[in-house]
Amino acid sequence: MPENGRPLGELLRYARQKLSDAGIAESGLESRLIVEHFSGTTRADAISSPGKVVGVSAIETALDRRIAGEPVHRILGFRDFYGMRLELSAETLEPRPDTETLVDAVLPFVRETAEREGACRILDLGTGTGAIALALVVQEPRATAIGADVSDDALATAAANAAHLGVSQRFSAIKSNWLANIEGRYHLIVSNPPYIPSSEIEDLQDEVRNFDPRRALDGGPDGLEPYRDIASAAEDHLERGGCVGVEIGHDQRPDVTHIFEQAGYRLVAQHKDLGGNDRVLVFSR
Ligand code: GLN
Repeated sequence: MPENGRPLGELLRYARQKLSDAGIAESGLESRLIVEHFSGTTRADAISSPGKVVGVSAIETALDRRIAGEPVHRILGFRDFYGMRLELSAETLEPRPDTETLVDAVLPFVRETAEREGACRILDLGTGTGAIALALVVQEPRATAIGADVSDDALATAAANAAHLGVSQRFSAIKSNWLANIEGRYHLIVSNPPYIPSSEIEDLQDEVRNFDPRRALDGGPDGLEPYRDIASAAEDHLERGGCVGVEIGHDQRPDVTHIFEQAGYRLVAQHKDLGGNDRVLVFSR
């Protein structure tokens, strides 16, 4: 077998075996993602032309990175979220399926507002890849969003994602530490802020601790600092009747509710994630 080319079908089997031998739980799925991406083939190619010869070296490199502990989506450089392909970068969290719960929770409000007002202005604090804001503007063509972040790398990534999705006209990336540089009023403020207590970062799974940016994870001593920042400053940027929707850690519902109630909000909806954990709270004034 030539060193730099191998039949696709054989390579898929080899890659799966290599990951499985290394103890990777999702070896079937992850080997397929790696082989398809780095060979530029699709699942249909694997079925219709397993004999097609594809280059091996990029795939070998990717498999070695995976075996060394890097999450598969960091290696691919993208992750799918709410039906969109989002580019990742060093300073962006990998968007997670749990966060789709937040999109589902607020989308009806976005649609109703757009229907009634002809527009829905959304502010996404700590936008990262832009995941939440972009999902909402893709789903509701009358919605517009600002994605705020402290990281220039994240802002560039969010803007690139907006461009790939064809929604640049309705999405702007703005540098701001929470609401510090934000002007104007919004119908909806959303955030999936960092919410892990600083002392618990070391206990996270290796893949999260070593590859998701710390600044996107660390919520301060008790994990609640960002909620305090948002609750104390959101009023000046919320339209009358507006909502604030946040993702939370599985045990943070009472604390986060208390923080927002102290700031003059009431809890109007709460949602669990696919694993049955408290994950999303929606507040209004
Ligand atoms: N808002 C982004 C997301 O949900 C980033 C969140 C974060 O970095 N904490 O993916």
